[in-house]
Amino acid sequence: MTGSACLFCRIVRREVPATVVHEDEAMLAFRDIAPKAPVHLLVIPKKHIDGLSQLDAGDGALVARLLISVPMLARQEGLVSGYRTVINSGADGGQTVFHLHLHVLGGRPMTWPPG
Ligand code: AMP
Repeated sequence: MTGSACLFCRIVRREVPATVVHEDEAMLAFRDIAPKAPVHLLVIPKKHIDGLSQLDAGDGALVARLLISVPMLARQEGLVSGYRTVINSGADGGQTVFHLHLHVLGGRPMTWPPG
């Protein structure tokens, strides 16, 4: 699902409301609508990519940018004692929105292994 129908593309275009905590020309970070921790952010590229498995070599700089934003966002959210970053990939990986996104979860101790 790309472009007009993709939920996260619609958030990028501000057709669907979201609580945006950071934006630049390449990416957006916003609060998850159903948070699994006191802080639960989603970090997405503005460019539509279905998921981790659809990345190609040309996406290297974009992926680096998404990852490098995570500690900045964690600092901004006051996650001084740690946080978890998750990318669910494909149906068995628990992915439900098929636009690449990183979850950033924090504000409580995380358990391991995840379910
Ligand atoms: P995943 O299951 O890894 O694909 O993650 C998708 C995430 O998107 C879930 O944690 C949902 O709670 C979240 N989500 C779904 N719709 C919205 C929305 N409109 N605004 C913000 N987060 C959303």
